[in-house]
Amino acid sequence: MTTHPTRKVRGSDLDNTMVLVGESGGLSAIYDNGPSSAMPGLALVETEHGPLYLDPDQEYDVYDEAQAEDINNADGSAVDCCIYEDDDLAEFDGYDDDEMSTRAMMFADPGGRSALRAASHRNPRNLPCPTCGEPNRLTPADQARSYQCDACADAAERGF
Ligand SMILES: [Zn+2]
Repeated sequence: MTTHPTRKVRGSDLDNTMVLVGESGGLSAIYDNGPSSAMPGLALVETEHGPLYLDPDQEYDVYDEAQAEDINNADGSAVDCCIYEDDDLAEFDGYDDDEMSTRAMMFADPGGRSALRAASHRNPRNLPCPTCGEPNRLTPADQARSYQCDACADAAERGF
C-alpha cells in the first residue's frame, strides 16, 4: 500500500487542481465537479477513473503537493535530483570542450593548412615521407591516408 501525503477537502470544494487519494492509496485526478442532477444532494466529481458521486459535506483525502514537496526536500531526494541535473549539464559541457580540443589536437597545425595528423603515443611520428624519404615525417594515421610531409605537399602544390 502506497501512502501519500493528504489533506482533507470537502466534497463540494473538490476541483480540477486536486487529486483524490483512495482508501487503498490509489490516486485519481479530478477533472470536474458540480452538483449532480441525477443524484440530487450529491456532488458529481469527474475523475480520470470515471464519475464519483460524493457527499458535498463530507471530507475527502486529496493529494497534498505542498506536503509532498516538504517530504522530498526533507529526505533530500528533490535537492539531489536538481544537483544531479546540474552535474549532468556540467559534465556535458566538459565533454563538449574536450571534444573540441580533441578535434583541434588531431591536426598538427590547428587552424593551419597542414593535413598531417598530430603525433601522440598512440600515433607516433616515426614513418618516413614516401616522397622525399626523410625519416620520422609521418604518423601511421598519415600513412593510412597516403599523405606526404608538409615540405613535399608544399612542393607538389607549387608545381615543383
Ligand atoms: Zn617529404
